[in-house]
Amino acid sequence: STILAIETSCDETSVAIVKNRHILSNIVASQIDVHRAYGGVVPEVASRQHLEVMNVCLEEALQEGSLGWDQIDGVAVTVAPGLVGALFVGLATAKTLAMVHNKPLLGIHHLEGHIYASYLSEPTLKPPFLCLLVSGGHTSLIAVRDYGSYEVLGGTRDDAAGEAFDKTARLLGLGYPGGPAIDRAAKLGNPFAYSLPEGKVSHPDGGYYPYEFSFSGLKTAVSRLVKQLETQGALPVNDLAASFQETVARSLTHRAIACALEHSLSTIVVGGGVAANRSLREKLTAMGTEKGLKVHFPPMRLCTDNAAMIACAGVQHYQRNEFSPLTISANSRLSLTELMSLYGSKY
Ligand code: ATP
Ligand code: MG
Ligand code: FE
Repeated sequence: STILAIETSCDETSVAIVKNRHILSNIVASQIDVHRAYGGVVPEVASRQHLEVMNVCLEEALQEGSLGWDQIDGVAVTVAPGLVGALFVGLATAKTLAMVHNKPLLGIHHLEGHIYASYLSEPTLKPPFLCLLVSGGHTSLIAVRDYGSYEVLGGTRDDAAGEAFDKTARLLGLGYPGGPAIDRAAKLGNPFAYSLPEGKVSHPDGGYYPYEFSFSGLKTAVSRLVKQLETQGALPVNDLAASFQETVARSLTHRAIACALEHSLSTIVVGGGVAANRSLREKLTAMGTEKGLKVHFPPMRLCTDNAAMIACAGVQHYQRNEFSPLTISANSRLSLTELMSLYGSKY
């Protein structure tokens, strides 16, 4: 099946066309430059920007895919979670297209989309596998039992991994977005210059939750170190960035591998913007291979937000006759395990 999808949950406007697991077009208009002046994503600015570029993205996606509406089977759109105003722009567009062209509507959960980035880039990938999802807003370990069947095995108690990168970059004066800036600075630094806390989450009965993450303590530790080092002259920014990155990569790697082994899942796929991180890629690949696990990182353009991953999830729901009613609304917080509430409409 061939699905056209729209993604506007945060700061990327994207329209894509996917046939089964094959990308026919994937247009992504990033708003990073617009939000940089504010040091982060401004929701109202994001909505307005989506509205401004939507039509161009749509035209380009159809043109690049060399397709007409008669060759498209359905319209998929991210409906949750995300910035509600931003989601509304994509949803209004998708509903209009579905109505005008008489196609079924497929509401998609954004995190299911991030998981589907791996189906696109690894054509032989089949459940079961473990997904380590590390993005600007989420950090989760998800057991993918079957197509559309997810169990969340671990998550963060406070900041998401990407958020930790962004906040720490600000502390170090490295600018926005923080992940790529820290990654670059870390290349020039010593990852073992400073010993930082990995952020274990204590269990009330003693010990630690094995698959829970916490990054706020790490951020506080960096902040304390910065204040202390500032009094001693120029800040060793590269060493701090490298040590921070090393600690985050270690925390993610250890938990993902322990979780995969414990749940007898022999493949780990990674999704979300933080999957671009050099240290995480190296560590998880090396340690996973050592333990006999297969580790897959999608290419960068499929790790960050894009509509191709949403379209690929749409293909799956289309083939299962899971359609969304035209009355469906945006939901800023829906959890992955509640995603079946998006369907139920027969076409
Ligand atoms: P969500 O999917 O949770 O709604 P999002 O879609 O905004 O969040 P993504 O676009 O997947 O998040 O990822 C953006 C995040 O990835 C940012 O926090 C950014 O700093 C981080 N990031 C990007 N590149 C790197 C890198 N090389 N190293 C570490 N972090 C990175
Ligand atoms: Mg983004
Ligand atoms: Fe995302």
